[in-house]
Amino acid sequence: MGVIKLRVAICGGGIAGLAHACALARYPDISVNIYESTDKFSPFGAGIGVWPRAWNVLCALGLGEDMAKITSGSPTSSPVQSFSFRKSDQPSGFTFGNMFSRGPLLTFHRAQFQEVLVQHLPPSSRIHHSKRLKSYSQGRLGCPIRLLFEDGTYATCDVLVGADGIKSAVRNCLFQDQTEIAREIGRPADEQKTLTCKDHVSWAGSIAYRALIPVERLKEDCDQGLLVLPMTPTMYVGTDVHMVVYPVSKGKEVNLALFHFRPELQGMPFHGPWSKGVDESELFDIARFESWEPEVQRWLKYVRRPTKWAIHTVVDLPTFTSGRAVLIGDAAHSCSPHQGTGAGQAIEDAYFLAELLGDPRTTLNTVQQALKVYDKFRRPWTQDASAKAMANGRYLTLHYDGFDFVHADAAAVVQKLHELSDVMIDEWKWCWTTTVEDSLKAALSQLQYA
Ligand code: FAD
Repeated sequence: MGVIKLRVAICGGGIAGLAHACALARYPDISVNIYESTDKFSPFGAGIGVWPRAWNVLCALGLGEDMAKITSGSPTSSPVQSFSFRKSDQPSGFTFGNMFSRGPLLTFHRAQFQEVLVQHLPPSSRIHHSKRLKSYSQGRLGCPIRLLFEDGTYATCDVLVGADGIKSAVRNCLFQDQTEIAREIGRPADEQKTLTCKDHVSWAGSIAYRALIPVERLKEDCDQGLLVLPMTPTMYVGTDVHMVVYPVSKGKEVNLALFHFRPELQGMPFHGPWSKGVDESELFDIARFESWEPEVQRWLKYVRRPTKWAIHTVVDLPTFTSGRAVLIGDAAHSCSPHQGTGAGQAIEDAYFLAELLGDPRTTLNTVQQALKVYDKFRRPWTQDASAKAMANGRYLTLHYDGFDFVHADAAAVVQKLHELSDVMIDEWKWCWTTTVEDSLKAALSQLQYA
């Protein structure tokens, strides 16, 4: 190994942390240590989707070929139908919109996705399992950052990347740090308060139920023409509830996610565990599914022991960095899953930050400035993406423009649904009409020599 200019510690080996380590692999003058709290990589959840914007990043990282082997879609940049929207909370449902995108939403089994990232970790990066970060401290004048783990051990680094998800320990410390700085320099108390992190995690008022269904179990209904395997992800839309169904594991399994949105509970405290396995019968208490279209009822019949998630979000952090610590992925901007962009945004952060750290102008002396550039570009972008995902969750549960979808007459409902479909597509198209490279180029131009 040659001369090392920066020692990076990544806290958290989820999608963001692993993607960041893969992205840093191209810079041999940066050493990488990953500290992961679990004793082995054990991704939660079922399916994830990746839009062309993030797919292009995976390709830039050299992961495209191996990822293409495990996706259920076909990577292409041609126009494809990426979603179909159905009004389903009535006995005969109907399709009210089809979304076409330049390149598909590529869907993956989360464990397989993470496995490919692990396979691409550079041999020089070291993974430390069963290392749950408790806190860190950093001296102001370029001294190493000191990491303290729950097991009482320590480590040091030059740059700490907090990729430790929505309940981020790095974020807690980072905002304590920021609050102290605010106090030291005499900022007003209300400004200090906005820096306390606990105010930034809140319940989205939404619960998700997720399950994977082996396709072979569906055979009988499919053979009888009662169920059609979704080649295109389908959104079944109803008041307060929507469900999405799409293939994963190269078509061997179907990912089903059902969302129950209670707008009046948004921002309220959530009592109980954020995620747990539940009995499938719980699903049938959410809505009067017996009055929904039969296709939905058939899908629900196949759900066994779904995982229930209370969707929490991290919104409007006033900064993603303090000193030489920085946040990426869900730790920085966990968003609701309604545009399928959380993992994609984590991958983008991972790449963006690696390019700034890897640039020859970034050294131990200038790294804080590089982190500020990362914050300047990525924070507004990801926060805007979170707002769009949140709005999409409202649209998909028929909270749109104050319109009463339950009592309005059928013709007015159809007209409003078409309008809604246009709005959703318009607010979604950034996922395939924009690229990370443009803003990265602008960010790199703002790096300065020491
Ligand atoms: P995480 O995946 O949470 O990883 C954090 C890692 O840090 C974990 O390995 C954890 O063990 C570790 N860790 C935690 N605390 C510590 C600590 N103190 N010390 C050390 N390690 C620690 N995104 C999409 O793009 N498409 C989708 O279709 C999609 N669907 C979703 C559906 C649901 C119901 C939910 C909840 C999310 C969905 N997402 C989706 C979002 C996506 O899952 C996340 O945005 C993504 O996993 C974020 O990755 P991350 O690495 O930042 O965080």
